[in-house]
Amino acid sequence: MVKGFSKKVFALNVGAMVLLALCALLGMMSFMRRSVLIGREQAYERLLESSAMQVRLINASIDGKYDILETSAGILGLGLASEEGEAREQIIQLCENGGFSSVGLANPEGLTILSSGETTNISDREYFAYAMQGLRAMTRIGRGEGKVSNEARFILSLPVYYEGEVTGVLFGSLLDENFQSLISSNVYSSRGYTFICDSSGDLILSDAAAPKELIREEPNFIELLSEENAEDISEAARADFAGLQEGLLRCTIDAGDYFATYTPLSLSDWMLVNVVPAESAEADINEMTQTGVIALMSLLALSMAFVAVTLWIAARRQHSLRESQNRVVSRLSKIAMTDSLTGLLNHEAAFDAIRELLSAEDAGRHALFIIDIDRFKQVNDKFGHPEGDRVLIETAGVIKALFRANDITGRLGGDEFVVLMRDAQETDTVLQRAAAVCEGAGRIRAGEDGGFEISASVGVALNSSGESFEELYRKADAALYKAKREGRSRFKLSGSENGDSD
Ligand code: GH3
Ligand code: MG
Repeated sequence: MVKGFSKKVFALNVGAMVLLALCALLGMMSFMRRSVLIGREQAYERLLESSAMQVRLINASIDGKYDILETSAGILGLGLASEEGEAREQIIQLCENGGFSSVGLANPEGLTILSSGETTNISDREYFAYAMQGLRAMTRIGRGEGKVSNEARFILSLPVYYEGEVTGVLFGSLLDENFQSLISSNVYSSRGYTFICDSSGDLILSDAAAPKELIREEPNFIELLSEENAEDISEAARADFAGLQEGLLRCTIDAGDYFATYTPLSLSDWMLVNVVPAESAEADINEMTQTGVIALMSLLALSMAFVAVTLWIAARRQHSLRESQNRVVSRLSKIAMTDSLTGLLNHEAAFDAIRELLSAEDAGRHALFIIDIDRFKQVNDKFGHPEGDRVLIETAGVIKALFRANDITGRLGGDEFVVLMRDAQETDTVLQRAAAVCEGAGRIRAGEDGGFEISASVGVALNSSGESFEELYRKADAALYKAKREGRSRFKLSGSENGDSD
């Protein structure tokens, strides 16, 4: 019952372990799937949010520059009406304090005085025409396209008013490096690159840190996309650019995996483009997934260890239980086989052992002794039962001492004992042993003063091959009977006239 119960517990534990492992595996898979999806969504949101933030910063910076220009334009509007020298002084101040590379002030004919002291005419410039119409404009002048300087730059222009009329145009130039400092904010923790493109995708300005391989000879972002990506990707981007719509896509550039976001800049038809290596954008997802997997694995390992320890404890308990069971069983079987008074085998156990030995295939030549105390009833009658018991114990002691440990010795009941002497090849040895039993018994005394001499009679029979135990026993018993009849305190060997102790 105990064994069955333990097996059940063991099976339950193993089942629990397998179930736990399965649950953890499923949990891990669904967690990974979920965290990848959530992580990807978060990565997209972060990318778009980061671009939108950058655009807000750039717009705020440009607005700040316009505010400076606006303030000066108000003063210059009045100044234009008076001294030219005063106006020149104003724009030099504006250039220095406003962080422009140069500042110019044009009259309605386009005649311009520059902060450098030079003069030029900008009447053919678009930004001049816009400003004369009362509009703000931000323009890009490429390298070598300028009238005053060769350097590429951005021009921020706005009208100058006097009494409600546009009386001129004020403009400030920002060199690429000034503008670059506006756009190279920390795109995705400095792991991405920023570009400004026009609505057709032509590159206007790139982040100073952008790797050269991302910029082509005549760079155009849409064309860059069409090189290694499916047509629908570049076409979607083309449509978004033309409509000045923000967007996000995953693309391949120079065999590299990237996320790209584009967000319109409000002051012109330009787009701010951020390109982030997919690895960087997804690093957070991986980190999150890894942490989750490690946590789940640890949990699983802990649970497994717990179940394993429980199993180990259960196995140990079962083992010690079985051991004590075995001890009890062997004790009980020993008790069942032993004569409680003398410690010899009892009747049944002795007969079983002898039968087993004789039935063995290679059964040798053995001698069966039946030993009976003479007139034992008198001991009981004269000295009482306990004294009789003591005599029985002493007789057993004599028998134990005379025979080998592997001989079979037992008490058949009352004052009768049995011995099977193994491998009794020599008849003389058998007879000597029978004589020794009689001598040994003869030394036992009973009664308070030890005045009552004990004696025993012995019947011996030697087995011949194929002989049954019953036959052998009958022969030995007959020999014992003979010994009793002939006067007791002697031994008789069955079938032999010599086997006599007389
Ligand atoms: P014999 O010489 O013919 O053997 O005569 P005997 O008196 O010994 O007769 P027998 O062997 O038949 O007597 C055995 C006696 O042993 C009978 C019984 O009262 C006594 N007896 C049986 N079992 C025990 C026991 O456990 N203890 C004691 N003290 N006596 C027992
Ligand atoms: Mg007797």
